[in-house]
Amino acid sequence: MNDINNILAQSEFSREDIVCLLSLEGEEKTLLFRKAAEVKAVNTGSEVYFRGLVEFSNVCGKNCYYCGIRKDNDEVKRYNLSDEEILAAARFAWENQYGSLVLQSGELASPAFADRVENLLREIKKLSNGELGITISLGEQSPEVYRRWFEAGAHRYLLRIESSTPELYRKIHPNDELHDFDTRLACLRSLKETGYQTGTGVMIGLPFQTLENLADDLFFFKTFDIDMVGMGPYLEHAETPLYSYRETLMPLQQRFDLSLKMVAVLRLLMPDINIAAATALQAIDPLGREKAVKVGANVIMPNITPGLYRNDYALYQNKPCVDEEPEQCKGCLDARIALAEGEIGYGKWGDSKHFHKRVKASSR
Ligand code: SAM
Ligand code: SF4
Repeated sequence: MNDINNILAQSEFSREDIVCLLSLEGEEKTLLFRKAAEVKAVNTGSEVYFRGLVEFSNVCGKNCYYCGIRKDNDEVKRYNLSDEEILAAARFAWENQYGSLVLQSGELASPAFADRVENLLREIKKLSNGELGITISLGEQSPEVYRRWFEAGAHRYLLRIESSTPELYRKIHPNDELHDFDTRLACLRSLKETGYQTGTGVMIGLPFQTLENLADDLFFFKTFDIDMVGMGPYLEHAETPLYSYRETLMPLQQRFDLSLKMVAVLRLLMPDINIAAATALQAIDPLGREKAVKVGANVIMPNITPGLYRNDYALYQNKPCVDEEPEQCKGCLDARIALAEGEIGYGKWGDSKHFHKRVKASSR
């Protein structure tokens, strides 16, 4: 126990320290969680920020080996919300004081897609008098497209690195130009240069993944000086190539637990960034996201995609809340956040404090 207290008292951590923290169980794990909660309270406070998540299309041009909506999965019913449906969801988020919206979809690199998103961003800004913050998560695009979307009103971008270990990245993606690790990195750099609050993340409990890989992921976030992180458990999907490795995976509860430890350790490493409580946590434990809030997360992304389409954005099986309408979702979340001893920052953008410090430091 003394050793753990010593590690937790440090401000810098070695790879061995991180692996040790990620391996904690029982009372020692409780010490880690308690320390992360303290660091969070001092640095980001008790407010939890909402981003209403609109998964507006499951049409994707890529073939990531883990993802249920990958291009080659013929079992998926493909959908594409109309502009009116997307704008209605944005209006719902604005009228209900969510503060921000996340637009997410499969990845498409066509000029028509870039034009459509640019137009939607301008419309969302207009309908909310510029009040709704907008995060987008639309995959790898050219620097030019990133710039156009930024100028149209998006100010945060989520692009998970999925794994920062190139060898592991190559095992979970096809080895072709469309799924190139260096391109992914270049996109993250481009997002930062464009001026976005830049978010990334990884899946936890992937086949072939070790605790050392996860420690390296945490160092990657720190070295890259990232503003926001969204990471959660990998959940297998029967219609994907990685499903054949399901026997090698750690049990779901262990993946869940490891995800909470990743959140807690990240909060120690990067006290002032935004950390999202991943929806995938809730697929394992109904109170999964609230548990993540307790140990370091400060952002939740309630799904406000119209209920009709939610079943079809199945990245993994047993996705939570697919039968609910956005109105039901909201009432439920109020109560849940109170349980996690947090308060919702209604109507606020809830920007990453780290981002503002980073920008200030670079302009000196
Ligand atoms: N297409 C965009 C992209 O890949 O960045 C955005 C949408 S994609 C569905 C969002 C995230 O879902 C991915 O970054 C990936 O980490 C996560 N995801 C996909 N399949 C998953 C699975 N089986 N289990 C957990 N997360 C998964
Ligand atoms: Fe497409 Fe994103 Fe799924 Fe990869 S993770 S297949 S890019 S939706």
